[in-house]
Amino acid sequence: MRVESLADGTRRVHLITADEAARACPSCGVTASRVKGPAVTRPRDLPYGERRLEFIWHKRRWWCREPKCPRKSFTESITQIPAGARITAQLREAAGRRVRDSGSTVMQAARGLHLSWPTVMRAFRTSAREVVDAPLPEVRVLGIDETRRGRTKWEQGPDGGKWHLVRDRWHTGFVDALGTGGLLGQVEGRTVADVLVWLATRPLTRRKSIRHVAIDMSATSMT
Ligand SMILES: [Zn+2]
Repeated sequence: MRVESLADGTRRVHLITADEAARACPSCGVTASRVKGPAVTRPRDLPYGERRLEFIWHKRRWWCREPKCPRKSFTESITQIPAGARITAQLREAAGRRVRDSGSTVMQAARGLHLSWPTVMRAFRTSAREVVDAPLPEVRVLGIDETRRGRTKWEQGPDGGKWHLVRDRWHTGFVDALGTGGLLGQVEGRTVADVLVWLATRPLTRRKSIRHVAIDMSATSMT
């Protein structure tokens, strides 16, 4: 309806609902025609450049006109801001992507978007699931390389027995060298046996799709 410019540069935007679907009863789906009264919410959205946007949404509450419907009345809502939501879906998704794709910490994203830490963390978990649950692309070139990580740890057997390795400082990483799969796995150790243990646990169809392996010349991993 109108925009106010506040002293600190914030834009306060007064909204009314344009989407006709917002009048559909969430229980029975019948479109309402009789207004019960007003309701005001303040959903949060992405900032406008460096400046904050403040939304005042002047909603309406409606009487459901379907006599058999258990819900007598409801407040209008839209897909971007479902009933009970305090932030828009696009703000939630942007918060999740900052952590997932842009290397931002949860705290940085929370500060930048004026959200709480738990809200950003939940948004990140949701957007991370999109990636983690997605099927991996077919890997045609497998990249194998060693990574040094932490310190080697040895432990002595009981009664001053033989020392044995409990943690290797070397890890082996497996990547989709030519595709978009990223890091496929990482195992402790860097011997052929360590590599084979990981490879052997991959599904056969995934192993069969590998045409080439890229590996640097290392005496250890070639023995
Ligand atoms: Zn209804």
